[in-house]
Amino acid sequence: MKCTVCKGPAVIDVRRHNANFCAEHFLRLCRDQVAKAIKDFTMLQPGERALVAVSGGKDSLAVWDILLELGYQADGLYLGLGIGDYSDTSGTFARAFATERDLTLVEVDLPTDHGFDIPTGARAARRAPCSACGLSKRHLFDDAARRGGYDVVVTGHNLDDEAAVLFGNVLHWQADYLGRQLPVLPARDGFPRKVKPLVRLGERETAAYCVLRGIDYIVEECPMAAGNKHLGYKAALNAVEATSPGTKHDFYFGFLDRASHRFAADAGAEREELRPCATCGAPTTGEVCAFCRLVERAAVPVALGRRR
Ligand code: SF4
Ligand SMILES: [Zn+2]
Ligand SMILES: [Zn+2]
Repeated sequence: MKCTVCKGPAVIDVRRHNANFCAEHFLRLCRDQVAKAIKDFTMLQPGERALVAVSGGKDSLAVWDILLELGYQADGLYLGLGIGDYSDTSGTFARAFATERDLTLVEVDLPTDHGFDIPTGARAARRAPCSACGLSKRHLFDDAARRGGYDVVVTGHNLDDEAAVLFGNVLHWQADYLGRQLPVLPARDGFPRKVKPLVRLGERETAAYCVLRGIDYIVEECPMAAGNKHLGYKAALNAVEATSPGTKHDFYFGFLDRASHRFAADAGAEREELRPCATCGAPTTGEVCAFCRLVERAAVPVALGRRR
Protein backbone atom coordinates (compact mmCIF):
# COMPACT_ATOMS: atom_id res chain seq x y z
CA MET A 1 0.00 0.00 0.00
CA LYS A 2 1.53 3.30 -1.12
CA CYS A 3 0.86 6.87 0.01
CA THR A 4 -1.33 8.56 -2.60
CA VAL A 5 0.60 11.81 -2.12
CA CYS A 6 4.30 10.78 -2.03
CA LYS A 7 4.23 7.09 -3.09
CA GLY A 8 6.15 6.16 0.11
CA PRO A 9 4.90 3.28 2.32
CA ALA A 10 1.37 4.04 3.56
CA VAL A 11 0.26 3.47 7.17
CA ILE A 12 -3.49 3.99 6.71
CA ASP A 13 -6.16 3.82 4.04
CA VAL A 14 -9.09 6.24 4.09
CA ARG A 15 -11.72 4.60 1.92
CA ARG A 16 -13.97 7.67 2.05
CA HIS A 17 -11.26 9.58 0.18
CA ASN A 18 -10.26 6.53 -1.86
CA ALA A 19 -6.66 7.21 -0.76
CA ASN A 20 -3.78 5.87 1.35
CA PHE A 21 -1.40 7.96 3.41
CA CYS A 22 2.04 7.76 5.01
CA ALA A 23 2.28 9.13 8.55
CA GLU A 24 3.37 12.60 7.47
CA HIS A 25 0.67 13.02 4.85
CA PHE A 26 -2.03 11.52 7.06
CA LEU A 27 -1.24 14.03 9.83
CA ARG A 28 -1.32 16.77 7.22
CA LEU A 29 -4.69 15.51 5.96
CA CYS A 30 -6.11 15.68 9.52
CA ARG A 31 -4.85 19.23 10.04
CA ASP A 32 -6.11 20.29 6.59
CA GLN A 33 -9.56 18.83 7.24
CA VAL A 34 -9.81 20.69 10.56
CA ALA A 35 -8.55 23.93 8.97
CA LYS A 36 -11.16 23.53 6.22
CA ALA A 37 -13.99 22.95 8.71
CA ILE A 38 -12.88 26.03 10.71
CA LYS A 39 -12.79 28.15 7.55
CA ASP A 40 -15.97 26.84 5.90
CA PHE A 41 -18.08 27.34 9.02
CA THR A 42 -16.25 30.41 10.42
CA MET A 43 -15.58 28.60 13.70
CA LEU A 44 -12.59 30.52 15.03
CA GLN A 45 -10.79 33.76 14.34
CA PRO A 46 -7.06 34.29 14.93
CA GLY A 47 -6.49 35.73 18.41
CA GLU A 48 -9.67 34.29 19.92
CA ARG A 49 -9.36 32.29 23.13
CA ALA A 50 -10.75 28.77 22.84
CA LEU A 51 -11.65 26.40 25.67
CA VAL A 52 -11.49 22.75 24.58
CA ALA A 53 -13.75 20.32 26.46
CA VAL A 54 -11.31 17.49 27.15
CA SER A 55 -12.47 14.02 28.23
CA GLY A 56 -9.11 12.23 27.97
CA GLY A 57 -10.41 10.38 24.89
CA LYS A 58 -8.96 10.40 21.37
CA ASP A 59 -11.24 13.05 19.88
CA SER A 60 -10.87 15.78 22.47
CA LEU A 61 -7.09 15.33 22.74
CA ALA A 62 -6.75 15.25 18.94
CA VAL A 63 -8.75 18.45 18.47
CA TRP A 64 -6.77 20.22 21.19
CA ASP A 65 -3.49 19.11 19.59
CA ILE A 66 -4.58 20.11 16.07
CA LEU A 67 -5.80 23.55 17.16
CA LEU A 68 -2.43 24.21 18.79
CA GLU A 69 -0.63 22.92 15.67
CA LEU A 70 -2.72 25.32 13.58
CA GLY A 71 -1.61 28.19 15.82
CA TYR A 72 -4.80 28.77 17.81
CA GLN A 73 -4.77 29.70 21.46
CA ALA A 74 -6.53 26.86 23.27
CA ASP A 75 -6.80 25.85 26.91
CA GLY A 76 -8.46 22.63 28.11
CA LEU A 77 -11.38 22.01 30.44
CA TYR A 78 -11.72 18.68 32.19
CA LEU A 79 -14.94 17.77 34.01
CA GLY A 80 -14.72 15.07 36.69
CA LEU A 81 -18.07 13.29 36.39
CA GLY A 82 -17.54 10.84 39.24
CA ILE A 83 -18.07 7.78 37.01
CA GLY A 84 -15.83 5.41 39.00
CA ASP A 85 -12.58 4.16 37.48
CA TYR A 86 -13.54 5.62 34.09
CA SER A 87 -13.38 9.16 35.46
CA ASP A 88 -10.15 8.51 37.37
CA THR A 89 -8.43 7.12 34.26
CA SER A 90 -9.78 9.74 31.84
CA GLY A 91 -8.61 12.52 34.18
CA THR A 92 -5.13 11.00 34.27
CA PHE A 93 -4.87 11.08 30.45
CA ALA A 94 -6.17 14.65 30.21
CA ARG A 95 -3.74 15.88 32.88
CA ALA A 96 -0.78 14.00 31.37
CA PHE A 97 -1.42 15.56 27.93
CA ALA A 98 -1.57 19.06 29.44
CA THR A 99 1.42 18.62 31.73
CA GLU A 100 3.69 17.15 29.04
CA ARG A 101 2.98 20.13 26.79
CA ASP A 102 2.86 22.77 29.52
CA LEU A 103 -0.78 23.65 28.69
CA THR A 104 -3.49 25.11 30.89
CA LEU A 105 -6.13 22.59 31.97
CA VAL A 106 -9.09 24.03 33.91
CA GLU A 107 -10.68 21.36 36.12
CA VAL A 108 -14.19 21.13 37.56
CA ASP A 109 -15.12 18.15 39.71
CA LEU A 110 -18.83 17.43 39.90
CA PRO A 111 -18.77 15.49 43.22
CA THR A 112 -16.42 17.95 44.97
CA ASP A 113 -17.75 21.18 43.51
CA HIS A 114 -21.47 20.38 43.20
CA GLY A 115 -22.07 17.50 45.59
CA PHE A 116 -23.12 14.71 43.23
CA ASP A 117 -21.70 12.19 40.77
CA ILE A 118 -23.44 11.21 37.53
CA PRO A 119 -24.59 7.66 38.43
CA THR A 120 -26.02 8.53 41.87
CA GLY A 121 -27.22 11.99 40.89
CA ALA A 122 -29.07 10.63 37.85
CA ARG A 123 -30.83 8.02 40.00
CA ALA A 124 -31.81 10.59 42.61
CA ALA A 125 -33.15 12.96 39.96
CA ARG A 126 -34.83 10.07 38.06
CA ARG A 127 -33.02 10.91 34.84
CA ALA A 128 -31.06 8.64 32.50
CA PRO A 129 -27.32 8.98 33.29
CA CYS A 130 -26.52 10.44 29.84
CA SER A 131 -29.32 12.97 30.19
CA ALA A 132 -28.08 14.19 33.60
CA CYS A 133 -24.53 14.11 32.26
CA GLY A 134 -25.30 16.02 29.04
CA LEU A 135 -27.19 18.69 30.93
CA SER A 136 -24.36 19.04 33.48
CA LYS A 137 -21.67 19.17 30.80
CA ARG A 138 -23.45 21.86 28.78
CA HIS A 139 -23.94 23.98 31.87
CA LEU A 140 -20.39 23.55 33.18
CA PHE A 141 -18.78 24.20 29.76
CA ASP A 142 -20.75 27.44 29.40
CA ASP A 143 -20.04 28.44 32.97
CA ALA A 144 -16.29 27.78 32.72
CA ALA A 145 -16.09 29.70 29.42
CA ARG A 146 -17.93 32.69 30.90
CA ARG A 147 -15.80 32.74 34.04
CA GLY A 148 -12.55 32.38 32.10
CA GLY A 149 -13.49 34.99 29.46
CA TYR A 150 -13.18 32.47 26.58
CA ASP A 151 -14.69 33.34 23.18
CA VAL A 152 -15.59 29.82 22.18
CA VAL A 153 -16.08 26.30 23.54
CA VAL A 154 -14.60 23.55 21.35
CA THR A 155 -15.84 19.97 21.52
CA GLY A 156 -14.37 16.83 19.94
CA HIS A 157 -17.52 15.63 18.13
CA ASN A 158 -16.39 13.87 14.95
CA LEU A 159 -18.13 12.89 11.71
CA ASP A 160 -19.30 9.55 13.17
CA ASP A 161 -20.85 11.32 16.17
CA GLU A 162 -22.61 13.95 14.10
CA ALA A 163 -23.87 11.49 11.50
CA ALA A 164 -25.24 9.22 14.27
CA VAL A 165 -27.00 12.12 16.02
CA LEU A 166 -28.43 13.25 12.68
CA PHE A 167 -29.59 9.70 11.94
CA GLY A 168 -31.39 9.53 15.32
CA ASN A 169 -32.97 12.94 14.82
CA VAL A 170 -34.18 12.00 11.33
CA LEU A 171 -35.54 8.61 12.42
CA HIS A 172 -37.69 10.36 15.01
CA TRP A 173 -38.21 13.60 13.05
CA GLN A 174 -36.93 15.75 15.90
CA ALA A 175 -37.42 18.97 13.94
CA ASP A 176 -36.21 21.29 16.71
CA TYR A 177 -32.99 19.29 17.17
CA LEU A 178 -32.48 19.15 13.40
CA GLY A 179 -32.71 22.94 13.32
CA ARG A 180 -29.90 23.20 15.84
CA GLN A 181 -27.63 20.42 14.56
CA LEU A 182 -24.89 22.61 13.14
CA PRO A 183 -21.10 22.51 13.51
CA VAL A 184 -21.24 26.05 14.93
CA LEU A 185 -23.72 27.39 17.43
CA PRO A 186 -23.29 31.16 17.58
CA ALA A 187 -22.89 32.95 20.91
CA ARG A 188 -26.15 34.31 22.22
CA ASP A 189 -27.64 35.72 25.41
CA GLY A 190 -24.67 34.93 27.60
CA PHE A 191 -23.88 31.53 26.05
CA PRO A 192 -20.47 31.23 24.38
CA ARG A 193 -20.11 30.08 20.75
CA LYS A 194 -19.75 26.30 20.41
CA VAL A 195 -17.82 24.69 17.60
CA LYS A 196 -17.00 21.16 16.39
CA PRO A 197 -13.82 21.34 14.30
CA LEU A 198 -13.57 17.53 13.85
CA VAL A 199 -16.72 17.16 11.74
CA ARG A 200 -14.65 16.31 8.66
CA LEU A 201 -12.76 13.46 10.44
CA GLY A 202 -14.07 10.01 11.38
CA GLU A 203 -13.24 8.36 14.69
CA ARG A 204 -10.90 5.85 13.06
CA GLU A 205 -8.94 8.85 11.81
CA THR A 206 -8.81 10.65 15.16
CA ALA A 207 -7.60 7.41 16.78
CA ALA A 208 -4.89 7.02 14.11
CA TYR A 209 -3.96 10.70 14.52
CA CYS A 210 -3.37 10.17 18.26
CA VAL A 211 -1.32 7.02 17.72
CA LEU A 212 0.88 8.70 15.09
CA ARG A 213 1.34 11.80 17.26
CA GLY A 214 2.20 9.71 20.35
CA ILE A 215 -0.87 10.95 22.26
CA ASP A 216 -2.01 8.53 24.98
CA TYR A 217 -5.77 8.48 25.45
CA ILE A 218 -8.39 6.48 27.33
CA VAL A 219 -9.53 3.68 25.04
CA GLU A 220 -12.46 2.41 27.12
CA GLU A 221 -15.84 3.97 26.45
CA CYS A 222 -17.79 5.45 29.33
CA PRO A 223 -19.57 2.51 31.05
CA MET A 224 -22.81 4.52 31.07
CA ALA A 225 -22.90 4.46 27.24
CA ALA A 226 -23.44 0.68 27.05
CA GLY A 227 -26.64 -0.12 25.20
CA ASN A 228 -27.62 3.50 24.50
CA LYS A 229 -29.38 4.45 21.27
CA HIS A 230 -26.47 6.52 20.00
CA LEU A 231 -24.21 3.44 19.82
CA GLY A 232 -26.96 1.60 17.92
CA TYR A 233 -27.19 4.40 15.35
CA LYS A 234 -23.40 4.39 14.97
CA ALA A 235 -23.37 0.63 14.40
CA ALA A 236 -26.13 0.93 11.77
CA LEU A 237 -24.26 3.68 9.90
CA ASN A 238 -21.00 1.71 10.12
CA ALA A 239 -22.73 -1.20 8.40
CA VAL A 240 -23.80 1.10 5.54
CA GLU A 241 -20.38 2.78 5.37
CA ALA A 242 -18.65 -0.61 5.09
CA THR A 243 -20.38 -1.30 1.78
CA SER A 244 -20.66 2.33 0.60
CA PRO A 245 -17.66 4.37 1.79
CA GLY A 246 -18.46 8.08 1.98
CA THR A 247 -22.11 7.62 2.92
CA LYS A 248 -21.72 9.16 6.38
CA HIS A 249 -20.00 12.19 4.89
CA ASP A 250 -22.68 12.62 2.22
CA PHE A 251 -25.47 12.15 4.76
CA TYR A 252 -24.12 14.76 7.19
CA PHE A 253 -22.75 17.35 4.74
CA GLY A 254 -25.72 16.87 2.40
CA PHE A 255 -27.97 17.69 5.35
CA LEU A 256 -25.94 20.82 6.17
CA ASP A 257 -25.93 21.98 2.53
CA ARG A 258 -29.44 21.16 1.48
CA ALA A 259 -31.74 20.51 4.44
CA SER A 260 -30.67 22.05 7.74
CA HIS A 261 -31.96 25.54 6.88
CA ARG A 262 -35.42 24.05 6.38
CA PHE A 263 -35.52 23.27 10.10
CA ALA A 264 -34.22 26.64 11.32
CA ALA A 265 -37.73 27.86 12.12
CA ASP A 266 -38.40 24.76 14.26
CA ALA A 267 -35.32 25.51 16.38
CA GLY A 268 -36.24 29.19 16.54
CA ALA A 269 -39.74 28.38 17.79
CA GLU A 270 -38.19 27.04 20.98
CA ARG A 271 -36.53 30.32 21.74
CA GLU A 272 -38.03 31.89 24.76
CA GLU A 273 -36.82 34.91 26.58
CA LEU A 274 -33.85 34.21 28.81
CA ARG A 275 -33.14 35.65 32.25
CA PRO A 276 -30.47 34.94 34.88
CA CYS A 277 -30.97 31.80 37.00
CA ALA A 278 -31.93 32.84 40.55
CA THR A 279 -29.33 30.45 41.98
CA CYS A 280 -26.28 30.59 39.70
CA GLY A 281 -26.90 33.51 37.31
CA ALA A 282 -26.66 31.41 34.12
CA PRO A 283 -29.12 32.40 31.36
CA THR A 284 -32.29 30.31 31.59
CA THR A 285 -35.95 30.33 30.56
CA GLY A 286 -37.29 29.53 34.07
CA GLU A 287 -36.70 30.92 37.53
CA VAL A 288 -33.94 28.39 38.27
CA CYS A 289 -31.85 26.74 35.52
CA ALA A 290 -32.06 23.01 34.76
CA PHE A 291 -28.59 22.37 36.23
CA CYS A 292 -29.44 24.02 39.56
CA ARG A 293 -32.69 22.02 39.69
CA LEU A 294 -30.64 18.85 39.12
CA VAL A 295 -28.22 19.86 41.88
CA GLU A 296 -31.15 20.43 44.25
CA ARG A 297 -32.53 16.95 43.63
CA ALA A 298 -29.26 15.06 43.25
CA ALA A 299 -26.81 16.62 45.68
CA VAL A 300 -28.77 16.03 48.88
CA PRO A 301 -29.38 12.26 48.50
CA VAL A 302 -25.76 11.76 47.41
CA ALA A 303 -24.48 13.64 50.45
CA LEU A 304 -26.83 11.66 52.74
CA GLY A 305 -25.73 8.44 51.05
CA ARG A 306 -22.11 9.28 51.75
CA ARG A 307 -22.79 9.98 55.42
CA ARG A 308 -24.44 6.62 55.98
S1 SF4 B 1 -21.76 8.14 27.89
FE1 SF4 B 1 -23.33 9.32 28.94
S2 SF4 B 1 -22.67 9.39 31.08
FE2 SF4 B 1 -20.89 8.75 29.88
S3 SF4 B 1 -19.78 10.66 29.46
FE3 SF4 B 1 -21.17 10.30 27.71
S4 SF4 B 1 -23.04 11.43 28.23
FE4 SF4 B 1 -21.84 11.22 30.12
ZN1 LIG C 1 3.15 10.44 1.88
ZN1 LIG D 1 -28.56 27.85 37.79
